[in-house]
Amino acid sequence: MNTFEQDIDTLRTWDRTHVWHHLTTGQAASAGVPMFVRGEGLTLWDSDGKEYLDASAGGVWVTNVGYGRKEIADAVYQQLMDLNYFAGSMASKPAAAFAEKLLGKMPGMSRVYYSSSGSEANEKAFKMVRQIAHKFHDGKKHKILYRDRDYHGTTLATLSASGQAERREQFGPFMPGFVEFPHCCEYRSQFGDVEDYGLRAAAAMEEVILQEGPDTVGAVIIEPITAGGGIIPPPSSYLRQVREICDRYDLLLIMDEVVCGLGRTGAWFGYQHYDVVPDIVTMAKGVASGYAAISCTVTTERVYEMLQEAEGDTLGYFRDISTFGGCLASQAAALANLNIIEREGLVKNSARQGERLLAGFRELADRYALIGDVRGKGLFLGIELVTDRQSKQPVDERISMAIAAKCKEHGLLIGRTNRSLTGFNNILNFSPALTITEQQVDIVIERLDRAFHDVTEGM
Ligand code: PMP
Repeated sequence: MNTFEQDIDTLRTWDRTHVWHHLTTGQAASAGVPMFVRGEGLTLWDSDGKEYLDASAGGVWVTNVGYGRKEIADAVYQQLMDLNYFAGSMASKPAAAFAEKLLGKMPGMSRVYYSSSGSEANEKAFKMVRQIAHKFHDGKKHKILYRDRDYHGTTLATLSASGQAERREQFGPFMPGFVEFPHCCEYRSQFGDVEDYGLRAAAAMEEVILQEGPDTVGAVIIEPITAGGGIIPPPSSYLRQVREICDRYDLLLIMDEVVCGLGRTGAWFGYQHYDVVPDIVTMAKGVASGYAAISCTVTTERVYEMLQEAEGDTLGYFRDISTFGGCLASQAAALANLNIIEREGLVKNSARQGERLLAGFRELADRYALIGDVRGKGLFLGIELVTDRQSKQPVDERISMAIAAKCKEHGLLIGRTNRSLTGFNNILNFSPALTITEQQVDIVIERLDRAFHDVTEGM
C-alpha cells in the first residue's frame, strides 16, 4: 500500500504551488488540474473519488495493457530485488529475454538498443544515420527527411525532425541536416484528386530527395500512422512506395513506432499493415505501458553490422550510451507487458474492438454534421470536426475543447489535437487500453454521444 503522510488537500496545494506540469499553462495549473489517484483496467479515480473510463491510455497513448497489472508490478519488484541496475554495456537476463521475445514479433529485424524515452530512441536512430554517413560516405549522406505533421520528440534534434510548426515556434535555431517533405493526408488531399493518393504523396517525397541531392540524404523518418498530427493512416500503396524510393537512393527507412508499436493499431507494429520492412524501428510508450520508462531502437543486422569496429577504425563502433537504458526493472516490465499482450490476445482485440468503435463513430457521424471524418486503425482512432463537410473548414477550437470537457464531465477521458502544438485544433483522439471490452466500447460511444448532444444542442 502506497501511503503519503499528508492529506489530499495539502498535496493538492503543493501540486499547485510547486509542480510545473507538462503542456499546461500557468492559468490552468493554478485553477487545478485533476489528480488521478488510482487505476484498474480502463477505470481511473481522481482525488475527489470521481470515476472515469479512460479512452486515452494515460492521456498520450501509453497504457496498452491497462492500469493495476500486478503481474508487471511483481516482475519489477523481483528484478529490483535481484539487481536493479548495471550499465547496458554488460549483459543482463531481462535485456536478453525481452529482446528475443520482441524480435519474434518483428520479422527482418535483428538488434535491440535500449534507452528510456521516445525522443531518445529517435535520437539514437539519427546518430546511427550520421555515423554511417561518416563511415561510408565521407559525412555527405547525413540529411534526414521528415514529414510535415509528424512528430518525433521533444529534444532539439528530434524537434528539428518534427513537422509541427507551432510546436517548434520560439525554440529555434534548429539543427542543420533535417529537411521536411509533404505529408500524406488523403482527407485534406493537398495533391488534389489523383488516382492513387499514396503513390502521389510518395512521389512528393522523391521530389525533395532529388532537390536535396540523393548523395546528401541518409534516411527518412515516418510515423506509420501519424499520432499528434491528427491520427492519419496512409493509403495502402504509400509505405511500400516509400520503401522502394528509399532503396532506389540507398536511404535508411526509420519507422517511428513510439505510439503505434505493441498492438496499438491492431498489428504488433503499425508498419506491418503495409507489407514493408524498415531499417530502423523506434518504440517507447506501449513497450512497458507506463509501468517503467523504456524505449528501444531496433535495427536490421545490416545496420548493426555497419556500426561495428572495422580493422584500423577504433572509432567505428556505435559510440553511444543511455544511462537509464541499463535499468533492468524496465526491461523486466517490458517482458511482462509483452507476455500479457500475447497471452490475452490483445493485438487481435485491438483490431476487433477498434472496428466496433469505428462503427459507433460512423453512426454518430450520421447524426452530427460537424463530424467530417472518422479514421484510424485498431484502437488508434480519430474524429475530425469541421464546420461543414464540403469546405472541411476546421471547427473553432472551443468546440473540440467543449466536447472533450463534456466527455470528462460524463466520466470519459479522450484526447484531442492542440492548436498551439500542431496547428490543428479539431481532431478528437481515442486510444483506450487494448483490453477494452465490447461493453466498454459501447459506454465510450454512449458518453461521447451525450457530449456531442450537449455541445451541439446550443449551436
Ligand atoms: N514519436 C512520436 C510519434 C510521439 O508521439 C512521441 C511522443 N508523443 C515521441 C516520439 C516522443 O516520445 P517521448 O515523449 O517519450 O520522448
